Amino acid sequence: MKKSILVSFIMSLCCAPALSFAWSAEGHQIIGAIADTLLTGSKAGKKVHQLLDQNSLEKVSVWGDCVKGISPEKDFGYTSTGKYPECAPFETASGIAAMSDFVRRNHNNCNPAFDEESCHKQYHYADVALQHDHYKTGYVGTSNHDIVHAIRSAVLVLQGKPQPEPFQFKDEYEALVLLTHYVGDLHQPLHVGSVFLNADGKMINPDNGQYERGSNTVGGNALQSPYGNLHALWDDIPQPFKRGRMNEALCSKAKSIAKPAISVTPDEWPVLWADDAIHNAKILFAGTQFSKSTPNQRGNSWSIALPLEYEKTMLAVKEEALIKAGAHLAQLLQAIWPE
Ligand SMILES: [Zn+2]
Repeated sequence: MKKSILVSFIMSLCCAPALSFAWSAEGHQIIGAIADTLLTGSKAGKKVHQLLDQNSLEKVSVWGDCVKGISPEKDFGYTSTGKYPECAPFETASGIAAMSDFVRRNHNNCNPAFDEESCHKQYHYADVALQHDHYKTGYVGTSNHDIVHAIRSAVLVLQGKPQPEPFQFKDEYEALVLLTHYVGDLHQPLHVGSVFLNADGKMINPDNGQYERGSNTVGGNALQSPYGNLHALWDDIPQPFKRGRMNEALCSKAKSIAKPAISVTPDEWPVLWADDAIHNAKILFAGTQFSKSTPNQRGNSWSIALPLEYEKTMLAVKEEALIKAGAHLAQLLQAIWPE
């Protein structure tokens, strides 16, 4: 018993970076690159270049994760220098000052509970129970500063409108960079859908009856698969989609993704995409089985058994998610800056 607690604790330590780095950097870059391509020659594309000072969405797509290297406990200093190659462009003196400034503004502004993360880290996800078909603010795992609201807030800033509490996005540049990241995250199914389990590993609905925090598997972070943490497994980008390989193919598929109906305002788009993510999360949990829980320092952990040919499921869901994320980002920016 003791040994298994130790093992799961070590597992949770080894997997900690995955917890904070959603989609791998490569995933965010692919999504940014698809949007860059789709926007070429458009008014929105010109506006993006101007705001990013000729940089690409591909390059800035990872900033939302790079800022997690700022440590509020160390006087908002940067503690990840040299650790993540994709963050290198932001590791200049002025770049670090900008990251530190963002985290200062977005650390306590949502009044996090004692066991909740820094506010800006909460902007990257929601944890909607899979018993639901749709995202709805008010469900357990949603908040006024979850990923759906973070996207809305960034859009409002880009439209020159006031942003809602508690967000503190400084300007259009910051809003665009974060929007690029959050739209990517929203398409990773485990950034929206979560399963809630009891001690016996049976699925429960936290919106029925009393909710216990320890039942949330936090987007698969508390689930250990034979290949490691389930969330990390889904963040990983399969070889065929690595940058420079299938990128053109992904782009041409992205061009064929339809826009939402004209009657749906861009404000509602992130809700539709979140519904899609919940649908995909149901696919990724189909045929899986959970063990009894093991308590550890962070709450609980369960083992998850995956069905045969799970890799095929992952490949198909991830491909569609990357394509849609890139297409949706481009569509949203074109809705903000129409021709
Ligand atoms: Zn993220």
